[in-house]
Amino acid sequence: MERKRVLITGAAGFLGSHLCDRFIKEDYHVIAMDNLITGDLQNIEHLFALENFEFSHHDVSKFVYVPGKLDYILHFASPASPIDYLKIPIQTLKVGSLGTHNLLGLAKNKKARMIIASTSEVYGDPSVNPQPEEYWGNVNPVGPRGVYDEAKRFQEAMTMAYHTFHGLETRIVRIFNTYGPRMRLNDGRVLPAFIGQALRGEDLTVFGDGSQTRSFCYVDDLVEGIYRLLLSDYAQPVNIGNPDEITISQFAEEIIKLTGTTQKVIYKDLPVDDPKQRRPDITKARALLNWEPKISRAEGLKITYAYFKSLPAEALINKEHKDFTTYNR
Ligand code: UDP
Repeated sequence: MERKRVLITGAAGFLGSHLCDRFIKEDYHVIAMDNLITGDLQNIEHLFALENFEFSHHDVSKFVYVPGKLDYILHFASPASPIDYLKIPIQTLKVGSLGTHNLLGLAKNKKARMIIASTSEVYGDPSVNPQPEEYWGNVNPVGPRGVYDEAKRFQEAMTMAYHTFHGLETRIVRIFNTYGPRMRLNDGRVLPAFIGQALRGEDLTVFGDGSQTRSFCYVDDLVEGIYRLLLSDYAQPVNIGNPDEITISQFAEEIIKLTGTTQKVIYKDLPVDDPKQRRPDITKARALLNWEPKISRAEGLKITYAYFKSLPAEALINKEHKDFTTYNR
């Protein structure tokens, strides 16, 4: 039988690369697309030798062309850490808006089903906890996170419009904080930040008083949820995340224990508009997809720490080599 063909954007990134692995494992033909601004080819290097894998170096904010048939499109291209979208705010807006529009057009031409990577950031700094899909959110459009949050909200609106107006088969996954191997050590996110600090022998920087909460999902659980949602027939947004909520202070303590570092916690200013609480209500995912996370934070953190420890020493240097300034057009 002919293989199904899937286009994955943001394929060289953290989530994109794990999705490539999953679809290769399911014997799809995978077309991996990335402009490599924040992605890293090392994440998918092991797939290049396969006959059912191809890579396309392309920015989806520009017209996207893929020859041949396409069964599915997974749009996972976007900067996704607060530090990244502060550095490349305009690219962040463009990939969520123009990029999504281009890919929806492609999906329509190819009669492909498309899933978009939305985010818990559509809920902003939420006033209800946990957050169900029905919650409309509390977003500051002109704050530093606005470029990401509003791009993702627009992305959902655009996707839903293609669904209702053109009858396109679409899926929307709202992804909550996720971690695992292949996260960038220096992307500013709390988990690589803390582990990087522990490995370098620096103090762990907790922002604010550390009472803000997050709920961390291990990447394999997330990928399973996304896979099930894509193959389901449900077009409304679905939260995928781990409801095990923890304060950032407690999380710092867990990383201190995990790594055995003798460093301490130091406190820094809370970033503007940093959400005070975040926890997914996964009632829908449980009912519709028969999905819930299986991997505990203790297990997932062990695997992730082992990955970071295995990186070459230069990966620990706390600087980003890429010059982002030219991308803000
Ligand atoms: N955070 C922190 N220290 C760090 C990096 C992040 O205390 O070195 C906090 C951050 O202020 C936020 C939480 O950890 O409250 C999660 O931050 P992250 O950037 O990972 O993702 P977010 O969930 O805010 O998008």
